[in-house]
Amino acid sequence: MNRNKTFNVLPGSKMGVLTTEYLEKVTAIARKHDIPFFKITSAQRLAIVGHTPETAEQIWQELGQKTGPRKPVGIHYIQACPGIKWCKYGRQDSLAFGEKLEKTFGDLPLPAKTKVGISGCPLNCCESYVRDIGIFGKKNGWTLVFGGNGGGCPRIGDIVAEDLNDEETLELMGKCLDFYRRNARKMERTGRLMRRIKIDTFWDEIGVRGKSRY
Ligand code: SF4
Repeated sequence: MNRNKTFNVLPGSKMGVLTTEYLEKVTAIARKHDIPFFKITSAQRLAIVGHTPETAEQIWQELGQKTGPRKPVGIHYIQACPGIKWCKYGRQDSLAFGEKLEKTFGDLPLPAKTKVGISGCPLNCCESYVRDIGIFGKKNGWTLVFGGNGGGCPRIGDIVAEDLNDEETLELMGKCLDFYRRNARKMERTGRLMRRIKIDTFWDEIGVRGKSRY
């Protein structure tokens, strides 16, 4: 194992969707630097792996990208499945909704990193129940889930509401994130916040009464 090598997460992939042209470009760069592998990250992004830190700068330049300033802590990633566009089980358009969500909340500062999983149907391939914000599609609209976590402190999120259209989902999501901003401690993930507070406080503040899964 070589622990001196590093990896870079490449820009250009949103929700795991990459164009053929972009893939050709990064493949040519990887070949030039004798890099034999890419890695798809858990955030559905493409990482170029196994190069030295010195090569990293060169790769960025060849991609025509700056590493750029880091965004404030907030939406860490948005995962989305193929949804109704490309999956036979799809009930809602997860990729299109992911775009809307990113436009609306992508730059919003939040107390800690916030992961989003959007699944186009109740089979939940994007594990929406265990994301800070989860959404999954059914015939009549979206189900919104809040406060899930799939990491070292796992928690199944609470169902905030069901049968929502895109606008209703974004509006309610905004209320959940507003609650999170006002009530979380610094670096406290949504799951830990929801364990710490009384769930009725949450329902009262966002103005709906959802249901817990446990
Ligand atoms: S969650 Fe449903 S729509 Fe999305 S990939 Fe899985 S089966 Fe298909």
